[in-house]
Amino acid sequence: MTAQTPAAGRTGDLTRRSAADLAAALRAGEVTSVEVTQAHLDRIAAVDGAVHAFLHVSADDALATARDVDARRAAGEDLHPLAGVPIAVKDVVVTKGLPTTAGSKILEGWVPPYDATLVERLRAAGMPILGKTNMDEFAMGSSTEHSAYGNTHNPWDLDRIPGGSGGGSAAAVASFQAPLAIGTDTGGSIRQPGAVTGTVGVKPTYGGVSRYGLIALASSLDQAGPVTRTVLDSALLHEVIGGHDPRDSTSLTDPLPDLVAAARAGQGGDLTGVRVGIVDELNGEGYQEGVRARFDESIALLAAAGAEVVHVSCPHFDYALAAYYLILPSEASSNLAKFDGMRFGLRVVPTEGSITAERVMGATRGQGFGDEVKRRIILGTYALSAGYYDAYYGSAQKVRTLIQQDFAAAFEQVDVLVSPTAPTTAFRLGEKLDDPIAMYLNDIATIPANLAGIPGMSVPNGVSDDGLPVGFQILAPARADDRLYRVGAALEALLEKQWGGPLLDRAPELVAGHEPTHALQTEGTPR
Ligand code: GLN
Repeated sequence: MTAQTPAAGRTGDLTRRSAADLAAALRAGEVTSVEVTQAHLDRIAAVDGAVHAFLHVSADDALATARDVDARRAAGEDLHPLAGVPIAVKDVVVTKGLPTTAGSKILEGWVPPYDATLVERLRAAGMPILGKTNMDEFAMGSSTEHSAYGNTHNPWDLDRIPGGSGGGSAAAVASFQAPLAIGTDTGGSIRQPGAVTGTVGVKPTYGGVSRYGLIALASSLDQAGPVTRTVLDSALLHEVIGGHDPRDSTSLTDPLPDLVAAARAGQGGDLTGVRVGIVDELNGEGYQEGVRARFDESIALLAAAGAEVVHVSCPHFDYALAAYYLILPSEASSNLAKFDGMRFGLRVVPTEGSITAERVMGATRGQGFGDEVKRRIILGTYALSAGYYDAYYGSAQKVRTLIQQDFAAAFEQVDVLVSPTAPTTAFRLGEKLDDPIAMYLNDIATIPANLAGIPGMSVPNGVSDDGLPVGFQILAPARADDRLYRVGAALEALLEKQWGGPLLDRAPELVAGHEPTHALQTEGTPR
């Protein structure tokens, strides 16, 4: 069940192996973390010119961690299960000593003086950080085309989008440049890139993973989570980054459910007694035929595994997108006010006229922010303005409550809810760039979970007629993230049995024949 190619030399191709597999090999002393980390740095050097998943590669930092872990292991220290397994981190997460831009020109050159809590936890676990991944500016988008630093390309077809906003993390994992990555999901930015690249993505329960050190998009919706190639790997990573953090006032205090145990239980493929609800509003018109066909086949598999499948209706989901695009810009307009040329990153001083603080701020924000960010700041400022607050922001919050009530009623009938993750497979670069509404529609199925604070997972469940990957979304009640892992791991096991291996084995090989379109920003010299 692990992504392994025929062994080449003593260690095989380390980049094709799952994190769980690498962790076992490291524990058994079959490989060192330096070997594993170097293999991924070499892979990045070979293919990232074509994929452009990374904005910054931190080779020195990663190898230093790897050497440290190897030395501690050699000394017989008791290490974390994922110690020595490298990871890529979305560039919206602050990393001490490593540049952090959130995909924006306004933060170009900013090197944070501290680590996000989740990064502290990765470092404490001994996980080498390979670099920072590309994303839509401030996590606004579904294609990574809104990055100020160029497109990321989908490893399945380099002319297509890798999803967004976390397209870099998904593409890095899908192209074997990293076994694991961190994403953030405000309306779907972990799950939708997962769906269109054939990777697993999990948005944890709101409050389940600390937001301290995440550059906020919409504080009431943002959650960081795992981006991986297997469901078990997501569970392992989720357990590293999750759990209470006193520095985040919205952090849950209850312990995480046993996610790894749930994933292992699911791998047996038995779902007897699990009640699965198909959300009628998230399946049908507007969904690509191949997406619907794969969804129906996956449902049949779950039923054959013993799940009890029923249909449920969540009538207010039809208004979720509209509510989201009032709440998100409102919160974003407030969160982005701090980027003013005074504190971080870029400062633009007007070349003509007087130099006042206000004019410097105006010039900095004018040049530092891209069009999508400006669009949302304007929308959010308008929705929050005195005369319109009740009509727009207030109404959207009422819809949010109705959506939460829909979920509560549905979860009285079923254990998990399911839908396709995204309505279509990866579209072509440029196809939706000039049509914001078409871009927003990509998240039609993922947004309700963020509005309700519940956890969601996307599992690859086949390819559509166009040969591109499709994702299956699983949703569970708040704090019941373990259910995602049980059902997700079962579906993955059943599908891989049919396919005879992981879906990503079918993705085209990238190494040969691709001209680099981007220059790598690498600190340190890969060997
Ligand atoms: N695509 C959605 C948006 O543009 C979701 C973004 C996200 O989850 N960060 O807002």
